[in-house]
Amino acid sequence: MTETLDTATAPAAARRPDRQAAYRSRRTFAIISHPDAGKTTLTEKLLLASGAIRMAGHVRARGEQRRTRSDWMEIEQKRGISVTSSVMTFERDGLTFNLLDTPGHADFSEDTYRTLTAVDSAIMVIDVAKGIESQTLKLFEVCRLRDIPIITFVNKVDREGRDPLELLDEIASTLALDVAPVLWPLGMGVDFKGCIDLAAHRLIGSNGAPGRPISADIDALSRDTELMADPNAARSVEELQLAAAALPRFDIDAYRAGHMTPILFGSALKGIGVAELLRAVAEWAPPPAPQPAKPEPVAPGDPDVTGFVFKVQANMDRNHRDRVAFVRLCSGIFARGMKLRNVRAGRDLAISNPMFFFAQDRETVDEAVAGDVIGIPNHGTLSVGDTLTSGREVRFTGIPNFAPEIIRRVRLSDAIKAKQLSKALGDLAEEGVTQVFRPMIGADWIVGVVGPLQLDVLGTRIEAEYGVPVGFEPIGYDTARWVASADPAELKRFIALNRANMGEDRYGDPVFFAASAWALQRAEKNAPAIRFLATREMG
Ligand code: GDP
Repeated sequence: MTETLDTATAPAAARRPDRQAAYRSRRTFAIISHPDAGKTTLTEKLLLASGAIRMAGHVRARGEQRRTRSDWMEIEQKRGISVTSSVMTFERDGLTFNLLDTPGHADFSEDTYRTLTAVDSAIMVIDVAKGIESQTLKLFEVCRLRDIPIITFVNKVDREGRDPLELLDEIASTLALDVAPVLWPLGMGVDFKGCIDLAAHRLIGSNGAPGRPISADIDALSRDTELMADPNAARSVEELQLAAAALPRFDIDAYRAGHMTPILFGSALKGIGVAELLRAVAEWAPPPAPQPAKPEPVAPGDPDVTGFVFKVQANMDRNHRDRVAFVRLCSGIFARGMKLRNVRAGRDLAISNPMFFFAQDRETVDEAVAGDVIGIPNHGTLSVGDTLTSGREVRFTGIPNFAPEIIRRVRLSDAIKAKQLSKALGDLAEEGVTQVFRPMIGADWIVGVVGPLQLDVLGTRIEAEYGVPVGFEPIGYDTARWVASADPAELKRFIALNRANMGEDRYGDPVFFAASAWALQRAEKNAPAIRFLATREMG
């Protein structure tokens, strides 16, 4: 069948021009953080503040429910964690917020990175006592690839933490971003007296409730006798004045260009600064923008329905190889029952039972626009990176593979099963569970992942679904880079010289394996004509 969008059955709403602007009310974002910084607590409080849930404990309970449903994967149960990355959609003040979960902890994987290609902005949560930690930095680097605007939430001000000025300094210098405080703490820990809201020019009480208005002129705050009466608050005001004198004012354009981050100090646990954070996302975070694609970017107001798969979740029942593909819509108005073409496979799919992700149970959602995420159940027809379209021929770009951080040789105990192994690795690579490589010298498969659990999932699934018991052996590599050069002769020379440390990915592109960051640096220095790439466009 060659027909694509069935306009005869598309609802009238999808053809009304005013509906084309609905995407402007979307705020699609993720929270990036290091484990224990407070992402789960903050997610829950955001949902509470938006009215999407009524009781604390919901997000965790949701996680547990998910775990019991996905008990097909023993490893999930054993470890008591979920490999599911979910989407939480909630509405407030006429806006629709799509919060995409970035799995952290042990379930950190390439999905975590790739989810960031499906959002328009991010919240970075930092523990006030710890500052920027390793995982935050990694995720930030991925955001930077696309200049994703970031709002920073410095969490746990109800506890003793580091000096705010010092933290601002660390954020600015580590991330090479301009920083602009917008919610400033008055004291910290036991001395915490509330915050100054520099955007709304009012005080926030120590319980998080909005207090009285204050002067918009930061220097004038020294004359606010009530405020200055408390010595800790007075000291905080002085620090704020120092910061304000040294730093640029918040500028929405600089933020949206990814050059400046507004900073809010608060406490997820105590609900301090959460409403202000939600307001910041509502007012400042960008709605969907044109999405990079070939032959040209796709504008969110384009009437054709388009989207890309950024994650595939293997489903619960191991006897059925069903999966859910998470699709970020990039244009048009999607309606249940629509036919979309999978550009890679050249095949049409009727999307009869899409999943929507409202935080409150809502059965009857049947429309989605650019910025929204839909889940499409399928039997392996959709892969990570696939483009779906109702009309125009496009292919979304910028859905990358990320250089693996854990590299292992696959040990096959039963040589007769080599063919099944090859099939398993191909399928699972397509699903985004792993990356596979062939060394240029030797015949064993090499797999690469970004989180240790991803490796366990891979082993468990190869055995359970393909009947091939495998093991994974370290081979002394710590990192990998795709290599390229403007000069084909230079690339050839590099490959010939480094053959023992080279492999090919499943598209046949050359990959250089390095024993350490230091070895990689040395290789880069010795081969200036070669580009070493930490990401590779898929497909
Ligand atoms: P995640 O690993 O980033 O999802 O972090 P969690 O939300 O699970 O929080 C980690 C720990 O920090 C938990 O014990 C939380 O109760 C605690 N926590 C989170 N936010 C705050 C906060 O604002 N203040 C304090 N004192 N503790 C917090």
